[in-house]
Amino acid sequence: MNKINRLVCNQRIFSKPYLTLSSDRFHEECGVFGVYGHPEAANLTYLGLHALQHRGQEGAGICSSDRGQIHIEKSMGLVADIFSEKRLKRLPGDIAVGHNRYSTAGSSSLKNVQPIMVNFSLGSLAIAHNGNLINALELRDELESKGAIFQSTSDSEVIVHLIASSRAGALYERLVDTMKSISGAFSILLMSENELIAIRDPYGFRPLSIGKYDGAYIVASETCAFDLIGASYERDVEPGEMVIINKDGLQSVKTVPSLRHAFCIFEFIYFARPDSNIFGNLNVDAVRKEFGRQLARENPIDADIVIPVPDSGVPAALGYAKESEIPFDFGLIRNHYVGRTFIEPRQSIRHFGVKIKLNPVRQLLKGKRVLVVDDSIVRGTTSKKIVKMIREGGGAKEVHVRISSPPTIGPCFYGIDTPTRKELIASTHRLEEIKKYITSDTLQYLSLEGLLKVIPNPEKYCAACFDDNYPVFTPQERVEQMEMF
Ligand code: AMP
Repeated sequence: MNKINRLVCNQRIFSKPYLTLSSDRFHEECGVFGVYGHPEAANLTYLGLHALQHRGQEGAGICSSDRGQIHIEKSMGLVADIFSEKRLKRLPGDIAVGHNRYSTAGSSSLKNVQPIMVNFSLGSLAIAHNGNLINALELRDELESKGAIFQSTSDSEVIVHLIASSRAGALYERLVDTMKSISGAFSILLMSENELIAIRDPYGFRPLSIGKYDGAYIVASETCAFDLIGASYERDVEPGEMVIINKDGLQSVKTVPSLRHAFCIFEFIYFARPDSNIFGNLNVDAVRKEFGRQLARENPIDADIVIPVPDSGVPAALGYAKESEIPFDFGLIRNHYVGRTFIEPRQSIRHFGVKIKLNPVRQLLKGKRVLVVDDSIVRGTTSKKIVKMIREGGGAKEVHVRISSPPTIGPCFYGIDTPTRKELIASTHRLEEIKKYITSDTLQYLSLEGLLKVIPNPEKYCAACFDDNYPVFTPQERVEQMEMF
């Protein structure tokens, strides 16, 4: 899509270029889960959030409605650590929404943990949001200039204020009104006192699926959450759709027209769990294995063993091994108990780096030509350490790196945590230079054509991190756009 088309697609033009290149980075990756119509709504949400833990480990919260009485519990940390039996008992009712939050330094605070709960003229409302708004800062500024007071730095609070300040009457009209103002990626769950509402942006960047369990409706970011509680998958919330679930059942409202779909391809590469089916019920594991097969077809090489970088490289490595008929094994073992906050006793002993997380199996690797598969290279630091580990710790004769996605050249503005463009090694270095940096004998990425060949209906995907073709404005483009007016 060219710039002018994107201009037309974008729903709101603003008067000031608030965003600068310093905001060329967003931090939120999240998981959402909701239940309507089950007496154990909060307990089910707890389980659902646990299944979605990979989408966010910084903090989590659950909000429930007990015949109009709203209850909320949220904290920093992991789902299993936050919710004790006692805490879950404080969440009665048959409607609930939950949220797992991921964020990196800078915005890490309990205030930003969701759901966000507010009381306004139409009653109480809880919101759980996955994705990133492109125009959150502008909207925030506009709202603040009209007197709005913000308690957090999260995009979701902007949405809440828009709903509260909308001139439309009923809640649904206010939601449609809000959807016209916000731009970017949003898969949202809202809980009013007596209903559950699911909304997906018109591009459908982030997944959002509807399931059923024991007569209740379930909505979740990924279907692995349905599997844990034994819910059946019904369908996806469609891009641009608002699904209202209340005592009358499920009602679908088409909101903002969807000019194109832009499902996030990186969900398939790295982010979603392999046992989930996303974007029209496509299995993530099967797609990742196909990426691996395609990678092997594009980049054959003689090697003695194929090993994955666990966990995210496993399905692609299996696919690569099958296609190339090179034996597969787990040559790197991952310690699963390394939390995000693990502190290295750096000064007193030594710098452990990636060894805290991974250790090579020397018996498997010694003297071998090792082909190691990972899902992506971002800054290049992980690959460099892994190559060194396989060569020095593992005793490998040769180390060949294969990446089951194309070079990551662009940051994501729609909810995947990526560094700035200049920190992405593939945006500033050629293949040969990256190979030299990570010290591998060879390095090959999956081609963009190969990646898109694997996915049905590739035109429905956003692959901006690989092709720089952003379906909705980037912050830089918004600055340029403002200068044009
Ligand atoms: P880097 O060291 O920056 O090149 O990171 C590459 C590693 O980070 C790969 O092993 C990926 O599996 C992993 N990775 C890729 N994208 C992300 C992300 N958005 N958040 C966390 N880890 C990621």
